[in-house]
Amino acid sequence: MNTQASDEPKRRFAYEVVERLRTAGFQALWAGGCVRDLVLGQAPTDYDVATDATPEHVMRLFRRTVPVGVSFGVVRVLGPPGAGQVEVATFRSDGQYLDGRRPESVRFGRAEEDALRRDFTINGMFYDPIRDEVIDYVGGRADLERGVIRAIGDPRARFREDKLRLVRAVRFAARFGFSIEAETHAAIVALAAQVTVVAAERIAQELRRLLVDRSRRRGVELLAETRLLGEILPEVEDVRVAGDLEVWRRTLGTLAALEEEPPPSFPLALAALLQGVPIQEGPADATGLWPVGRVRGVLGRLRISNAEQERVAWLVRHQDALGRVWGSTPAARKELLAHAGSEDLIRLSRARCLAEGREPDVAEAACRYLRELPEGPLEPEPLITGADLRGLGIEPGPIYRELLDAVRREQLNGRLATREDALRWVEAHQHK
Ligand code: ATP
Ligand code: MG
Repeated sequence: MNTQASDEPKRRFAYEVVERLRTAGFQALWAGGCVRDLVLGQAPTDYDVATDATPEHVMRLFRRTVPVGVSFGVVRVLGPPGAGQVEVATFRSDGQYLDGRRPESVRFGRAEEDALRRDFTINGMFYDPIRDEVIDYVGGRADLERGVIRAIGDPRARFREDKLRLVRAVRFAARFGFSIEAETHAAIVALAAQVTVVAAERIAQELRRLLVDRSRRRGVELLAETRLLGEILPEVEDVRVAGDLEVWRRTLGTLAALEEEPPPSFPLALAALLQGVPIQEGPADATGLWPVGRVRGVLGRLRISNAEQERVAWLVRHQDALGRVWGSTPAARKELLAHAGSEDLIRLSRARCLAEGREPDVAEAACRYLRELPEGPLEPEPLITGADLRGLGIEPGPIYRELLDAVRREQLNGRLATREDALRWVEAHQHK
């Protein structure tokens, strides 16, 4: 099987890991997603190895290892620079899932059992890189050819065991442009309401993978079709079913129109998805916090990092700001573009225009502006400080902030260029 050259060091290392285990007398195979990707002729992002060696054996055989889940039999083996890392997992069958979230126990076993515990047939294959042979106990190859996502075994039982698989089915169907096999699909719809028992972090992780992929529009449509959207993101489902149809169309269009090079960040793609969800405007409340708009509700529930929450909320709140500031003052343009999220905002704005069939003029202009800075730097050194105001004999107080802000605005607008100009300006304005 051929893959791209950039993948070579990773692939070679994953080969060596298998070779070393075999030499020590163990079975070892590439497993899961990497086999699927190789059969499809795509370069895997990661290689996983499955073996009958126990974690203790694995840690003894390789010098640089990190035990990532020894009770589940997973050891990470670190490669030489550029070769990434390989997760080596002991063949296992999962015990009962009592809470629908994680197995109560695992039992180390044989390759075939290890295939049967995996989620979908296309994810359940092994590959022997030494003999160049696919080992397929679950009919994964046929389903890859047919373009079908099919649960391994009884779909309802498998989804009941681990409800995250409901979302994973949608993610893989979207990513590969596959259909979901009828019984698997029916089981997802029937069990969709139970997805909420899954830890928010795991749902967020799948949502992240779904949204950064270029198939994100299809992914969201499939979430809606399987009733998962209403469970995971009821705020978005409300936009879809109860909101303005145009807004929902624009949302889907934006998801499809986001630039892929480089792929959008998760906050950018999520902001595109949340564009129709009301975000609270207005001043902070008595506690000094922003009122919790529905966008905040989503972000808090997904438990993504504060930095990502801030970025998404900023993007949603400023989704129309670019057009507004463009006809405004240089200071307004500079303030918006100096924000760390401005490149994402430009990409969001461009995609929204394309979704509405308009030319993304403002986005292009903003791009050029950032490249050329025709009105000077976005964040020049301040011309004066509070010490200068004291030097002018001005009584300290709230007036300081007002004067410094006003000078800053004049500076960004190109009307004040030097400290002397600024001091003169303050003297002329301090009593107004
Ligand atoms: P990706 O390229 O998106 O990482 P992947 O197939 O590698 O796709 P992972 O989430 O990295 O997906 O999981 C690796 C493998 O582990 C899967 O291919 C599947 O065989 C198995 N697996 C992962 N999550 C589950 C799950 N919830 N239930 C059953 N098997 C799973
Ligand atoms: Mg993976």
